[in-house]
Amino acid sequence: MSELRCGPFADQWVISAPERGRRPSDYRREEEERSKEEDCPFCPGNEQMTPPEIYRVTGEDRRWRVRVVPNKFPALQDQPRLDREAVADVFVRVNGVGSHEVVIDSPEHRKEIPDLPLEQIELIIDTYVLRLRALMEKSAHRYVLLFKNHGKEAGASLAHPHSQIIAAPIVPPAVEARLQAAKAYYKKKRRCPFCDILVEEIRCGERIIEEADGYVLLAPYDSRFPFEMAIYPRDHAHDFTAITAEQRRGLARVLKRTLSRLKCLLEDPPYNLILQTALNSREETTAGQKVLSSSSHWRIEIIPRLTRMAGFEWGSGLHINPTPPEEAARYLREVAITG
Ligand SMILES: [Zn+2]
Ligand SMILES: [Zn+2]
Repeated sequence: MSELRCGPFADQWVISAPERGRRPSDYRREEEERSKEEDCPFCPGNEQMTPPEIYRVTGEDRRWRVRVVPNKFPALQDQPRLDREAVADVFVRVNGVGSHEVVIDSPEHRKEIPDLPLEQIELIIDTYVLRLRALMEKSAHRYVLLFKNHGKEAGASLAHPHSQIIAAPIVPPAVEARLQAAKAYYKKKRRCPFCDILVEEIRCGERIIEEADGYVLLAPYDSRFPFEMAIYPRDHAHDFTAITAEQRRGLARVLKRTLSRLKCLLEDPPYNLILQTALNSREETTAGQKVLSSSSHWRIEIIPRLTRMAGFEWGSGLHINPTPPEEAARYLREVAITG
């Protein structure tokens, strides 16, 4: 069983997940991404290769369009209760309560978001909303993160396009710190800091890649990585799971265009896509919820994996970005895309 571990500084938690276990020999050569369709557990016909299905979207032809299954090697999983204990009065351990799901984007083994029709991308977004809502029903799931790893270098072990959702019993310290800073900003100025970022970005324009369908796509002012991008809803919204049908349609379009720009400009680079949405706030007081909803703004971050974290970055936590976001935005704006 996995567990979460933290040292006395409380600035970093680690999920220790021995069932994903690797022996020394497993680390010697980089694991090959499984890419053959015959032995792909996410392809139609191989459904028995995944753990029992959690959810599926079925088309008019009765075939599935999107499937959700538990991760075969979960980082965290459902357990009767949350146990938190001190270890030797120095460390803290929490048992690995949570959830780890996989959303299979479509039955197509080789079609990524840029290749899929808009209707299919809308089904994927609908599934994200449903699963995030379901996971947030549990108060033990303090933090829920949806992400997509594309390409082996970005952490994908299966080539068939998919996303993952992990629910954890603790709020990661870096997330908590940003949340507290956002709350403090709101309390001082009575404005959402992310809305303020958007106002300034739109006024300046240099880092905007596109503004359409109710969303703003930009290269963040403090981009850590070359060609990092973020998609923000134009109007303030803290909770991704509350988006309307029209906003979902708009998001499908902007997501397809964004990932097409990336694919086109950088020849299908590996990337991580991360959905940042409001914390599970059912435990908060009404006043606390008001501050939380006014100071958080959901967004999607896209991080192309073009550089590697090296000694300086690991040691200091500071990133060296060789491509300023103003330049990245200019290149990304100029990509000719349709749709
Ligand atoms: Zn497949
Ligand atoms: Zn906002």
